[in-house]
Amino acid sequence: MSFSSEVDRMAERALRQLALPPGLREQILACNSIVRVQFPVQLDDGSWRVFLGWRAIHSEHLQPAKGGIRYNELVSLDEVTALAALMTCKCAIVNVPFGGAKGGVRLDPRDYSEGELERITRRYARELINRGYIIPGTDVPAPDMGTGPREMAWIADTYRRVYPQDVNYFACVTGKPVGSGGIPGRVEATGRGVQVVIREFLSEAEDARRVGLGGLAGARVAVQGLGNVGFHAAKFLEEEDEARITVIIERDGALIDDKGLSVAAVRAWKDEHGGVRGYPQAQYLEDGQACLARDCDILLLAATEGQVTEHNAADIRARLIVEAANGPVTTAADEQLRARGVLILPDAFVNAGGVTVSYFEWIKNLAHIRFGRLERRLDELRMQRVIEALEALTGKTLPPQLRRDLTTESDELTLVRSGLEDTMRMAWQEVRETWLGEGLEDPRSAAWLVAMRKVAQSYETTGL
Ligand code: NAD
Repeated sequence: MSFSSEVDRMAERALRQLALPPGLREQILACNSIVRVQFPVQLDDGSWRVFLGWRAIHSEHLQPAKGGIRYNELVSLDEVTALAALMTCKCAIVNVPFGGAKGGVRLDPRDYSEGELERITRRYARELINRGYIIPGTDVPAPDMGTGPREMAWIADTYRRVYPQDVNYFACVTGKPVGSGGIPGRVEATGRGVQVVIREFLSEAEDARRVGLGGLAGARVAVQGLGNVGFHAAKFLEEEDEARITVIIERDGALIDDKGLSVAAVRAWKDEHGGVRGYPQAQYLEDGQACLARDCDILLLAATEGQVTEHNAADIRARLIVEAANGPVTTAADEQLRARGVLILPDAFVNAGGVTVSYFEWIKNLAHIRFGRLERRLDELRMQRVIEALEALTGKTLPPQLRRDLTTESDELTLVRSGLEDTMRMAWQEVRETWLGEGLEDPRSAAWLVAMRKVAQSYETTGL
């Protein structure tokens, strides 16, 4: 089954449970628009190469439509369409008022110099802008696999050159560097959101028992994919929750250490050597895929789609699977794992931390002001007055640390983190209540039901 058919199946299953007016189900499932672009770019050696890319806007029940841009050699129309539909679902679950979209260019970014990638990115952006895509009010991309803040800055700059009169040009794309209209905390937001969901899940003793865990401290975690999402999620789990990262699987093999790997050290090695092979402080196994079946408590899938399939599902030993990547477990595998009592926290909301902070960035770009700028000093002065009044009334002096804690104003990063944590916790609680309260099979079915209800309600309110 293709990736987009798998996503459609999840949506259909949820929509069947809703009483909808005729035609609405079809509209929710439909991908509203897709553009395919082919464009030439000159490479450093003077030759020309033609690149193939897409942008799909799945839903516009709310605008802008939002979704990342992927650079990967396997990007296809089917993949982009599936990922756009997943974005519709994700935004609805975390109550981010956006439709769903996705874009991609078929290329391996490792094959190109920085200058070539800049020319490719700017040209791809021009192709989309010229066709009415990438506009602050209708279609706002973000980073995904193979792209990051650098590419987003190039896209914003390209848009500004086409529309120099648009004062909101920064809001045409999110995930930009902080110095170029970005927001602190966006780079690590998806990984941070993954950590929040796992923590929140395990905070319910009943849920923790389902997967045989008492908490995160000492839990053995196997991670596939040490890119943006996998690296940050694993690093936070290791450094802040004392989880043991016992397996790291990358494209060129896997590293194993039952005592726990240093995520930062492995990432530094990977960045320097282009892979994990040769890392000196762990056992190395060439067949990374086979290591998905290593004994562990949590399997954190943060690479790409279709990694756990009907061929290897029976071998998986983790009792909790976390889908930090999009679509890493196929439908067939999902059924097998569910039958064996393996619990899956699904992509449909687990990796929504990125789009949540993208939403904050977009608001900041439209407001043209940093969060907290107006009230920061006022809050500090007010708190000082409260402390003075309290001390005058009691005749006692507050301990210096407490005084500092109360008067230290919140910076933008603190506000972003707090907003992200709150959003992810609320999302999980809503999914959990639907899962257990309505007697659904698993969190995935609940997540899709929550999303489809909200999308349908939005269409019903505003009309098709
Ligand atoms: P990335 O390009 O930064 O990292 C991907 C990592 O996975 C790389 O280190 C790559 O070498 C590795 N990898 C790729 N294929 C692999 C394989 N078959 N086996 C082992 N390792 C493999 O990408 P990312 O941004 O971290 O995205 C990862 C996943 O998370 C994707 O599915 C993406 O759609 C999803 N996601 C990303 C974001 C975001 O904010 N970046 C947000 C939501 C979802």
